[in-house]
Amino acid sequence: MPTRSARDQAVQDRSAPPVRRAHSCSLVRNGSFISVLIVPRDLWDRIVAHCLDGLPLEACGLLAGRDGEVCEVYPAANAARSARVYTVEPRDLLHADRAADAAGLSLIGVWHSHTHSPAYPSPTDVAQAPDPDWHYVIVSLSDLEPVLRSYRVVAGAAEEEAVVVSA
Ligand SMILES: [Zn+2]
Repeated sequence: MPTRSARDQAVQDRSAPPVRRAHSCSLVRNGSFISVLIVPRDLWDRIVAHCLDGLPLEACGLLAGRDGEVCEVYPAANAARSARVYTVEPRDLLHADRAADAAGLSLIGVWHSHTHSPAYPSPTDVAQAPDPDWHYVIVSLSDLEPVLRSYRVVAGAAEEEAVVVSA
């Protein structure tokens, strides 16, 4: 009886059911672009909590994940220390990038809060959103309930995408 080669073993392993992660980050997209951002409920809560903590200033942070799904969030300091604009603290950006990389994820976007205006990107927000592959999330705290919306910014134009809050 010949022993199975390592290659056979690898094929065998690949057919095994996928290991479940804390968040399912590997939804099949059939290679096609779907403008949806999936945010697990607990991460949605952490994003909003950081925005509330930052009041009266705008708060911000980085989103890590893959395939349009947020798998981790990295709250950051607003280096602008402003209630009207935000700048992700460069050191926090660096740390988030390294942490995401170590977790096998990529930075896929950034979030910031609007303390007194709707969750719609300002001209400044659009101007400082250079990456068409990123998800630009805005959390409005102007109403009783926080409102989270996400945008793609392509060629200087912001387009809202669907946000799906998963369990
Ligand atoms: Zn803004």
